[in-house]
Amino acid sequence: MNTSEFRRRGKEMVDYVANYMEGIEGRQVYPDVEPGYLRPLIPDSAPQEPDTFEDIINDIEKIIMPGVTHWHSPYFFAYFPTASSYPAMLADMLCGAIGCIGFSWAASPACTELETVMMDWLGKMLELPKAFLTENAGEGGGVIQGSASEATLVALLAARTKAIHRLQAASPELTQAAIMEKLVAYSSDQAHSSVERAGLIGGVKLKAIPSDGNFAMRASALQEALERDRAAGLIPFFVVATLGTTTCCSFDNLLEKKKNCNKEDMWLHVDAAYAGSAFICPEFRHLLNGVEVADSFNFNPHKWLLVNFDCSAMWVKKRSDLTGAFRLDPTYLKHSHQDSGLITDYRHWQIPLGRRFRSLKMWFVFRMYGVKGLQAYIRKHVQLSHEFESLVLQDPRFEICAEVTLGLVCFRLKGSNKVNEALLQGINSAKKIHLVPCHLRDKFVLRFAICSRTVESAHVQRAWEHIKELAADVLRAERE
Ligand SMILES: *Cc1c(COP(=O)(O)O)cnc(C)c1O
Repeated sequence: MNTSEFRRRGKEMVDYVANYMEGIEGRQVYPDVEPGYLRPLIPDSAPQEPDTFEDIINDIEKIIMPGVTHWHSPYFFAYFPTASSYPAMLADMLCGAIGCIGFSWAASPACTELETVMMDWLGKMLELPKAFLTENAGEGGGVIQGSASEATLVALLAARTKAIHRLQAASPELTQAAIMEKLVAYSSDQAHSSVERAGLIGGVKLKAIPSDGNFAMRASALQEALERDRAAGLIPFFVVATLGTTTCCSFDNLLEKKKNCNKEDMWLHVDAAYAGSAFICPEFRHLLNGVEVADSFNFNPHKWLLVNFDCSAMWVKKRSDLTGAFRLDPTYLKHSHQDSGLITDYRHWQIPLGRRFRSLKMWFVFRMYGVKGLQAYIRKHVQLSHEFESLVLQDPRFEICAEVTLGLVCFRLKGSNKVNEALLQGINSAKKIHLVPCHLRDKFVLRFAICSRTVESAHVQRAWEHIKELAADVLRAERE
């Protein structure tokens, strides 16, 4: 493809994308295909002679679209939202064109410097404590990770290294292996599965603290575990608090954590993957109160802040905790400014070496929406979830299973798990809308998450009518 063909095809692709987004409501939200559907539709191996662009474009509707789950359909209410906006898509195109790998400042100064400034902009939108920002030349700073899972893992590995160094400084005879055997991390029993995986990958024990009646981790329950484990000779070193759990969007009590996390030996990481975006609204900012005691904080603008995947924003109070854990300097990556104290080499802040110019997406989105536009977007989603909540509450056959704070409603038919499983099965085989379930304690619960950028009240109303019809079928079948 030469440049003039690129110009033409690029414009066609923009039209295809715009038509896709505009017409997405008319597509069935969840595909009909069976596992293995795709292989028979394409050749066994790559073509020896080139195909044309026309051939490829024609195959999109034939081969790809039949197997796509349309996450941006206004009838998609599953999981949590994943961000999509035109400014972010255009910025991603530019990112592809520049195509730099910004592992160090010298590898592409704009890539590093825009990221640092965007993380400050975003931190200020959330009113993060100054200690997390870079602009005051303090010890903190922000970095874009690929996912919340990565951010949790990076925090756990840094905390692990810090604990090992601290214990070895006190008792030089201790080996790393002897220390690692005793390290324990903690999170709520409602924490995301990526937290448990971070423990598995990091080679340390991770204990689940029983959450309270509101599915929140409380200081007293954590304290009990800490005391028990310390008495047994174990070494507590890391706590993950969740703001906005994946199951039901509950909030661990951060303000209480101060008591648990003695700054000396416990690292507190805050995972607000979904809910974090809402903290740009003053009326939701109180949910972040207590973050000042955390060592690291993370949320995903790629979930709810209109910055397309991937963009997970992580801040630390002490950048040296990361760079101290992960820094290696082979000759081919060194550059003349690296020890000047004036620049950031983000490769020391993350697991991979390579990194894309992801801050462009933030820059485009923040400028084209403005903080007010982003706040309006969050508020609209929260309003729609309350609208759905009140529809559920008006129907005595149903119950709400957890407090509705942001854009997620957990609900179920009053009655057995079996009848709720049948309802979900009915919903997801009709494929007019798409939902996923969760378990809250031993209850099977349906999650209704406001997801699409274009979802309106009418879609929510239609979804509820549809759910009610299917519920009537399920209840009738149960009686028979
Ligand atoms: C979605 C979610 C995650 C995982 O996010 P990734 O960016 O996909 O790793 C982690 N924690 C919580 C609370 C989440 O909701």
